[in-house]
Amino acid sequence: MSETKAYQTEVVIAGGGVAGIVAAYELLSHGRRVLLIDKDARERFGGQARESFGGVHMIDTPHQRRLGIKDSPELAWQDWQRVAGYEPCDRWPRAWGQFYCENSREFIFEFLADKKIKFLPLVNWPERGLYAAGNSVPRWHIAWGTGYEIIDRLLHALDAHPHRSSLEVLFDTEVSALEMTSGRATGVCARSTDGRRELRVQAEHVVIASGGICGGDLRRVRAHWYKPWGEPPEHLLNGGHIYADGRLQDRVAELGGAVTHLDLQWHYPAGVRHPAKRRPNDGLSLVPPRSALWLNARGERIMTPGPMLAYSDTRHLVASVLQQPGKYSWQVMNWKIAIKELAVSGCDYMTAFRYKKRLGLAASLLFGNKELVDRLIRDCPDDVVVADTLQELMDGMEQRNLCGLKLDRGRMEATIRAWDEMIDRGPAYHNDPQLRHIANCRAYRGDRVRTCNFQKLLDRKAGPLIAIREFILARKSLGGIQTDLACRVLRSSDGQPIPGLYAIGEAAGFGGGGMHGKGSLEGTFLGGCVLSGRMAGRSIAQ
Ligand SMILES: Cc1cc2nc3c(=O)[nH]c(=O)nc-3n(C[C@H](O)[C@H](O)[C@H](O)COP(=O)(O)OP(=O)(O)OC[C@H]3O[C@@H](n4cnc5c(N)ncnc54)[C@H](O)[C@@H]3O)c2cc1C
Repeated sequence: MSETKAYQTEVVIAGGGVAGIVAAYELLSHGRRVLLIDKDARERFGGQARESFGGVHMIDTPHQRRLGIKDSPELAWQDWQRVAGYEPCDRWPRAWGQFYCENSREFIFEFLADKKIKFLPLVNWPERGLYAAGNSVPRWHIAWGTGYEIIDRLLHALDAHPHRSSLEVLFDTEVSALEMTSGRATGVCARSTDGRRELRVQAEHVVIASGGICGGDLRRVRAHWYKPWGEPPEHLLNGGHIYADGRLQDRVAELGGAVTHLDLQWHYPAGVRHPAKRRPNDGLSLVPPRSALWLNARGERIMTPGPMLAYSDTRHLVASVLQQPGKYSWQVMNWKIAIKELAVSGCDYMTAFRYKKRLGLAASLLFGNKELVDRLIRDCPDDVVVADTLQELMDGMEQRNLCGLKLDRGRMEATIRAWDEMIDRGPAYHNDPQLRHIANCRAYRGDRVRTCNFQKLLDRKAGPLIAIREFILARKSLGGIQTDLACRVLRSSDGQPIPGLYAIGEAAGFGGGGMHGKGSLEGTFLGGCVLSGRMAGRSIAQ
């Protein structure tokens, strides 16, 4: 039998990820009374950001200036629009994208720095672009201590807030319905996950911060699959939050709120099965090595029309894999490449970053991250093949091939030998886009430390050989609840705000129901959550 408890507050926030936490902080700073409700357990307070790598996209920061990187909001906005490919009707996504570029230093960098979150001095450069520039300059600032540290520091700041007594937090409690009175949001209904307690919360303002739709249920990801990509793959991995099920987006839509762009999702091309298997199809997203050859299940090099270039354009890489037989891929490398270039997106495997081990980080940059590669080999035997010879490697790949696909061994061997021969001829004769990309990456010192100097695959001294079977991993929802710049939820019928109702973070497509358009420059997810959390706090306070 369940008991019903009534609450009354000024603002109720549904979801305690980074967006909800930042909004709560901002509201406390403006003297508001807040009830924050999260479905998850107390020890997982912070949502996905707690597991994230902690890379944040920021523009014209002191870190960039120290490195001599000339960046500006104008340059960033040009890059952003090119990658977003907005449609003419994308008024609010565009407004949010521009707002991000113009305000990231003040609203994101300075806010996080004020909470004593430190970023590594070397700014990273993902999403460089493929046929057109992506990020014109490096903008991905890695938090020292990863996303775990971001959350730790934010929670510390929340606890130390002079108005901490105005905040109540409930865990293991799911917001199940939104209450409306005369067209205004006036509270929520919630229940404890053990079914013992029902809650009725009356509030002047309701903020949805419950995350996206990728993670809770892959059926939902498939249902909103981006049509130009064809059918979703049979083998799809889950890399989002376990409670990212989109139920509150549904409740908002039922109340007449606009929920847009759900088919725009940010997936990754190099997922492997998660060893801990917290749920079916759980996956880890690998940061793919630049010096590996990217092949399809038949052993052919993927050419769409050029080769797959890591760190160039994630969306293009995903679309390219989806054109391949079986819709998955193999990356072939050797030990030397793996220890220098392989990484895992997230804090769990990146131990030197996560635990702030300066010596460990320096050692892994100098000598390679052997611990990480050993662990992946040990933890992921289904997806990682290790062999002394190419023939053995191909045996292992054949055994693991899915969908009845056969490896063309002759072709694969010829491709690898041709690659090695081109490297042997010397840089002046590197007539391959991937080798030119490697040279380009090595020209930036932030990438040089993590990119081999034209490493041949069959080099005996660099062995053993490694092949990794990689699946598409669903991670982020680019679309969501449509909001204006004050984070007010807009009605689908007339585009006017629903009084009292707000949405932030991934639930709101990081702002505007799809701030990124079709693509991200990376690090804009955490950044978008901080930005929208702060904007919601301010606009409610006003
Ligand atoms: C492994 C990993 C690595 C990543 N690395 C990066 C990175 O380096 N840079 C970057 O920019 N982004 C990264 N991301 C993405 C980024 O972490 C997320 O987009 C961001 O944290 C989303 O925050 P959020 O607060 O909007 O939602 P979430 O973090 O999803 O939090 C939502 C919260 O709402 C709760 N909730 C859900 N439904 C309900 C309900 N009905 N009632 C009550 N509570 C509910 C959930 O329990 C959860 O705590 C990464 C993500 C992952 C998983």
